[in-house]
Parts: sequence; structure tokens; C-alpha cells
Amino acid sequence: MSKIVYFDNNATTRVAPEVREAMLPYFGEKYGNPSSMHAFGGEIAKDLNRAREEVARFLNAEPDEVIFTSCATESDNAAIRGTADYFGKDLKVVTTAVEHPAVLQPCRRLKALGHEVVELPVDSVGQIDLTQLEAELSKPPTLVSIMWANNETGVLFPIEKVAEICKRHGAILHTDAVQVAGKIPVDVKKVPVDMLSMSGHKFHAPKGVGIFYVRRGTKLKPFMLGGHQERTRRAGTENVPYIVGLAKACELARLGMADEAKKLTVLRDRLEQGILATCPNVRVNGDRAHRLPNTLNVSFEYIEGEAIAYHLSDLGICISTGSACASGSLDPSHVIRAMGVPFTAVHGSVRFSLSRYNTMEEVDYVLEKLPPVIRNLRDLSPFGPDKDVSTFK
Ligand code: PLP
Repeated sequence: MSKIVYFDNNATTRVAPEVREAMLPYFGEKYGNPSSMHAFGGEIAKDLNRAREEVARFLNAEPDEVIFTSCATESDNAAIRGTADYFGKDLKVVTTAVEHPAVLQPCRRLKALGHEVVELPVDSVGQIDLTQLEAELSKPPTLVSIMWANNETGVLFPIEKVAEICKRHGAILHTDAVQVAGKIPVDVKKVPVDMLSMSGHKFHAPKGVGIFYVRRGTKLKPFMLGGHQERTRRAGTENVPYIVGLAKACELARLGMADEAKKLTVLRDRLEQGILATCPNVRVNGDRAHRLPNTLNVSFEYIEGEAIAYHLSDLGICISTGSACASGSLDPSHVIRAMGVPFTAVHGSVRFSLSRYNTMEEVDYVLEKLPPVIRNLRDLSPFGPDKDVSTFK
């Protein structure tokens, strides 16, 4: 396939050339183990420390609060299962209905093991009710795990207010910050979360490396047991090349984020306006006033998101559907359903997610190719505003 327009950056991003460059020596001459006694390994330990300092700068954290993991799924599991391990059955867990499975599944496992677990609902724009959150915090110890931004809709939760409420009630707060990484500033001194997860490949580092931020003094049992790496908080030899790449991605994000967010907002808004102007029976899903700059989730009513993605893929355009594809099912997305999106629109939801490497030409290409795809699918669909929808479920 020749032309690729990649608008699926919430799924994964391309590795930045600067990141690749920074990693290369660690696949060659810099192969030492940072835990070794000899000076050759000691040099690598120094590089690892420098990487940790850079990641800490990115989060405005202390270097010893940064633990390197294999991915955000590991970080999410380490936060939730590690807290439950510390407190045992006494721990109550409060999360939301729209979390990523990397949070929802460990929470549901805890529920199956007898913990009290509450999944807060969201309203029609995907926002939680803070009074409802507060009402769940009367019985310590409570772990609150609430994402910073939603991967499907880009909706930003009011994490600063969530943190303030958690502090007031002595609840422990973990946030899945995977989708905000490199898109909006994250400052753990300003937003006092206790734990935070990120994944390198969502912001131009490679797949297979993650961040687990743990505030000093947080009560937690380690999830991975073994050697003394990461101050015995995450056993396993550190993935030095990828960690160095991750640190480079953090530096690039820290330096370029403000300009990038402006550019992404312009591209995303042009895409949104173009779609709304050319395609009838379309709705934007999620809180447009509180949204990541790069994400657009829209439902094309009466047709299937999978069919749209499939036809666009033939044209070299990469997007995601709202379906739970990761689970291999064609069930509508739990996020879209939790928002109470009307049944005529639930199946037709698709996500466009942009990155620093996208251009206005690419947006215009999508705006040229998309409307005929939608028209054709609507012509073929047995359902529509003027058609019988009684069997559309
Ligand atoms: N959390 C969110 C919000 C995500 O979007 C993702 C990935 O899509 C994850 C967690 C899991 O990330 P990884 O697959 O890199 O572990």
C-alpha cells in the first residue's frame, strides 16, 4: 500500500527518529546490566538514572518515585493489585464504567475475590458526577482508580478536583494517564495523585516500556517479585534501551507539547467541522469542552463503524472503531454504551486520533474520501432515518 494516513495514534504512535537514535547504542556497545558490580555495568546504571531523572522532570516528580515497567497494563495492575495486596479484604475500590480493560479487569477480579468495588456511571457526554464519587469515600481504606483521559472519546476527567476530593477523604488515588502523555501537561505536584500509569508507545517511544509513578509513602506491595531492581518495587532486569527511548520521548514531549497541542487542535477541529458539514446524521461523542486536543469520536448513524474503518483502510486511512476489538468481539464499546448513545448511533462510532506527524493535507484527504464511503454504506444499509429501524439493535 502506498499512501498511509495514520489517524490511530491513541492505539499506538510511530517511534520518533530522535528516540530511535537515542536507543541505538544500547543495542550495540552499551549492553551492560545496570545491576552489575563492574564499571561497565555502572555506566549503564548512570544512564538509567539519567533516564529516570528525565521522566521525573516530565511528571514534575522525584526520580525515586518513577518505576519502569513493561507497559501501562502492568502499571495499572501493579497499582490496583498491589494496593489490594497491602490492605487485604478491607480495601474498597472505586473506579468508572469507562476505564480501559487494564483497569476494569483487575478491579473486577478484586470484586470476584470479595472486595467492594464500585464502577461510577458517566453521563451523556462521558463525565462522572463528583458528588457521587464523594459519596463512595466514607469507608477507608479506599482506592480510587480514575483515568485522566478516555482513550476512545478523549474526554478529560476533572482529575484535579478528583485528587482534591480523594485527599479530603484520605482515599488513595491512582490515575491511568496513558492518553494524556505528551498531549497535556502532567504535574504530580499540582495534581497530587498517589499513583499514575503511562505507556511509552502512546507518545512516540517503542512498545514494551511503561511508567509507574508512585508517590513517596504510598502503601503498596510489589506486583513483580524477584530481584532488587527498581528498589525492589518491580523485579526484573530493566529494559535499558527502551527506557532510554522513553526518556527521550518524555523530553521531546516536554519541550514540544504546547505547540503540538495547538497544531493538533486546529487539525482535529478542521476534521470535525468538515465531517459535520459533509455527512448528515452524525454525532460527536464525548464532552467537546473537555477533550484531548488530538481525539475525535463520531457516530455515523445507521451504519457500522467496522464497515467504515474497513473501507477507509482500503484507501490507506487508519482509524479505530468504538467496538471492543481488543476482545475480539463486535459488541459495541462499553464506553459508548455507558454514555447512553442512542442505539442508532452506537454501532457507527469511530475514532480519529492524530499525532505530531499528521498534516492538514492528510485531514483534507480524509475529508475527500470519507463522505462517499458514508453515502455508499448508507445506500446499502437497510436502516436509516426514512427506513424501518425496528430491528436495529
Ligand atoms: N490505558 C489506556 C487508557 C489505554 O488507552 C491503553 C492502551 O490503549 C492502556 C491503558 C494499555 O496500554 P498498554 O497496552 O500499552 O499496556
